[in-house]
Amino acid sequence: MPTTASPAPRAATLRITEIFHSLQGETSRAGLPTVFIRLTGCPLRCSWCDTEYSFTGGTTRTLDDILAEVAGYHCPTICVTGGEPLSQKNCLPLLTALCDAGYSVSLETSGALDIAGVDPRVSRIVDLKAPGSGEVARNLLTNIPLLNLRDEVKLVLASEADYEWAKAQIAEYSLTERCPVLLAPVQGQLKPADLAAWILHDRLPVRMQVQLHKVIWGNEPGR
Ligand code: SF4
Repeated sequence: MPTTASPAPRAATLRITEIFHSLQGETSRAGLPTVFIRLTGCPLRCSWCDTEYSFTGGTTRTLDDILAEVAGYHCPTICVTGGEPLSQKNCLPLLTALCDAGYSVSLETSGALDIAGVDPRVSRIVDLKAPGSGEVARNLLTNIPLLNLRDEVKLVLASEADYEWAKAQIAEYSLTERCPVLLAPVQGQLKPADLAAWILHDRLPVRMQVQLHKVIWGNEPGR
């Protein structure tokens, strides 16, 4: 059985790139006012990454300090993102502390690191990296049997070849029977209308998404 993080001293620290209040731009929570906690650092280098500013830098913050800032937004919905948040060991106690405080919590993760230790109250949004990302070899396939209906799998697609690959993965791992599956086009590389047409033609039982925050605000950090 997966184990959750043991209670950590509230003085435990994490490296934080930014904390901000915005609208969730992706997943089935799209459109919901959300507080984002962006953790610094990522071991991957996806070709189309739009958060390279989170790879380095950031500020060291205690768990208590993070919780206090989040509380100031008076928002019940939290998204822990990155970078790759699970690359910091204190991400697990942060997630548990947020759940204990009563928030509805989601975690955005690359799919390259083990999700087994994540608090079961968290909705895990797990990427499955397509070949166009340049990081397909990093997919940790042992995560797939751990997925449940609280979770979502996200495939970001740069081309028709990526779409065909995604279809094959959905079939091979019965992904749509495990949890909701999200397909998203890489902005500027794959036309949303093309992806929509392929999904409808193939009768794929997935949710297509475009990044709502970019429609509203463009590529600004902190949005
Ligand atoms: S896993 Fe996410 S943060 Fe890391 S390189 Fe890929 S897109 Fe960027």
